[in-house]
Order: sequence, then structure tokens, then C-alpha cells
Amino acid sequence: MKTFDDRSGKAKASEGHKEYGNPEDELMPCSECHGSAPRKVLVMFGSLCSGCYERYRNRSTDVGVFTHQEKRAIVEKIAGIGRSDSKAWAHILKAREKAGDRLSSLQRRMWREALREQ
Ligand SMILES: [Zn+2]
Repeated sequence: MKTFDDRSGKAKASEGHKEYGNPEDELMPCSECHGSAPRKVLVMFGSLCSGCYERYRNRSTDVGVFTHQEKRAIVEKIAGIGRSDSKAWAHILKAREKAGDRLSSLQRRMWREALREQ
């Protein structure tokens, strides 16, 4: 059933295929070790690669990898402050939770409710 047209069409398609995959797979630098990691991992782990995130998690919360200032910078980056967003506070709380901050149950509930509304 195969024709020459089929084959040339196929060859053309694979030629056009390059490594521009999902933007979430784009490699970005880790804020801790500056190694590259997929964007989706960095977003999930508060701009850490999975290795640094594991190390962060394995430390006691009192020690912490980040200084207060560093943490705030990360949180603001994740939350995307700067764009005018009336729900910015909710994004901040969400980002803080993802960065490992302990939020009160009220705070956790509030950001979830606020972001669901959007
Ligand atoms: Zn890292």
C-alpha cells in the first residue's frame, strides 16, 4: 500500500522535527547549584533542580538552604509579581507553600479558594 509520496512526506516530517518540545521541558538554571533542569521541575520545586530540592527537604526546616531574603526573591519570582494581578497575594502564598514555608491552615485554604475563583 505504500507509495513514494508517502515516503517523501514522512522524510520531510522527520526533517522538520527538532528538539523544540514542550516549553515545560526547556532547561533552565537551578538557583542553588546553577545546573540545568527542566522548567517544570524548577517551577515545582521553587526554582531548585530535583537534586537540590531533595537536599533542601532533607535538612531540618530550622537550618534551611535559603536566607530569608533569598527565599523572598524566589517566592516573588515564582509568584510573578510585577504583572498587575489582584490575586498576587494568593500566588505568593502558593509559592511560599511550594518553597517549603509552613502556612497556617487558613492561609492554605485562602489561596486555594482565591485561585480557583480566577
Ligand atoms: Zn540544583
